[in-house]
Amino acid sequence: MENILVLTHADETGSALTRASLETVTAGLELAARLSAPLTIGIVAADAAAAANALASTGARLLAVSGKAFAQPRYASDAAACEALCRAAKATIVLAPGTSRFTRVAAGVAYRLGGFVDTHITALGGTDTVEATRWFYRQRVEAVVSRDARPWFLLLDAGTHAAYAAASGTASAEQVTVELPTLRTTVSGFRAPAQDAQTIRPDAKLLFVAGAGWTKKQPDGQVHTEDAGKLILGFLHASGASLGSSKSLVDQGGDGQPVLPFLTHMNQIGQTGATPRHPKGLATCCHGEEPHVVGWRFIGERRAISLDPNCGWTRGKADVVYIADAFPVIAKVNELLEAKKV
Ligand SMILES: Cc1cc2nc3c(=O)[nH]c(=O)nc-3n(C[C@H](O)[C@H](O)[C@H](O)COP(=O)(O)OP(=O)(O)OC[C@H]3O[C@@H](n4cnc5c(N)ncnc54)[C@H](O)[C@@H]3O)c2cc1C
Repeated sequence: MENILVLTHADETGSALTRASLETVTAGLELAARLSAPLTIGIVAADAAAAANALASTGARLLAVSGKAFAQPRYASDAAACEALCRAAKATIVLAPGTSRFTRVAAGVAYRLGGFVDTHITALGGTDTVEATRWFYRQRVEAVVSRDARPWFLLLDAGTHAAYAAASGTASAEQVTVELPTLRTTVSGFRAPAQDAQTIRPDAKLLFVAGAGWTKKQPDGQVHTEDAGKLILGFLHASGASLGSSKSLVDQGGDGQPVLPFLTHMNQIGQTGATPRHPKGLATCCHGEEPHVVGWRFIGERRAISLDPNCGWTRGKADVVYIADAFPVIAKVNELLEAKKV
């Protein structure tokens, strides 16, 4: 019989669990029910009390590693915490969120326990054994993996499961003691771009994609790159959307053509870019070519605004296409969104 452990960690408040952790809890509950296997949830947090209460109705055994040393991500303390939780739970299957915090330590912890790790898991199946699904070759090939090695660590991609949400109850987690090694790293704080400067937002409900059309000559024979930049940033500010781009637009900087200064190759969506997961996507001034659209594989509902009635989007790649000039359309949308905020 498998012993399933879900590893979770708190967010920057030090006590509430991250959304990705709550998604992993859902995956753990589903897997445990399917295999009729016992489930333990391990919490790594400065203070685990709130997290334990939030997990009260899972009915799982709760273990916690808490204290000041675990308030912030650091390899030595996080690896020691995860190792101690795995040993205390005698885990054979360890599910963990693929956050930067746990991705950094999972392979090391698996090695310490003589186990095996797989990353970017998108689904778990199997009724007698565990079958983990992940994509290869830029999301083109989907593989189902099973292994005999135990403990088997599975890092789940964010956005693949619903976040566990139930009314808070009262539960206290069993404290697991950790022998910390000498800590050579002192975390002095976070330095993060301001919210407006941070354009890639994996948790956003909407992906807004800018295409090269924004910087091309418009019907008046002129380019309006500055206006384009203002409209795009205005939309992101008003909607909280994540910003994606076509390859052509981000490549333009290198070609000496007009550029939008807030776009980098990190924003690129597609075959040679990212494949994000958002419930909705809106492409603007983008042609909808296959190498771009392949990056939209996990976008739930797709819409596009293009001047070209024969663009790729209208040829079956989007659910709704507005054949329109994106400049006035987005200006109007921004105006409506701002008015709604007041
Ligand atoms: C090996 C390989 C890998 C690739 N990988 C990727 C990838 O990962 N991601 C990617 O994006 N591409 C990729 N490409 C490139 C891809 O094939 C396209 O060239 C690219 O996606 C085109 O970008 P675009 O649609 O923004 O630009 P364009 O093709 O120039 O299209 C611009 C569109 O904007 C419209 N437009 C202009 N003005 C307006 C306006 N005012 N309002 C509304 N619409 C307007 C035009 O009608 C046009 O349809 C790859 C290509 C290759 C060969």
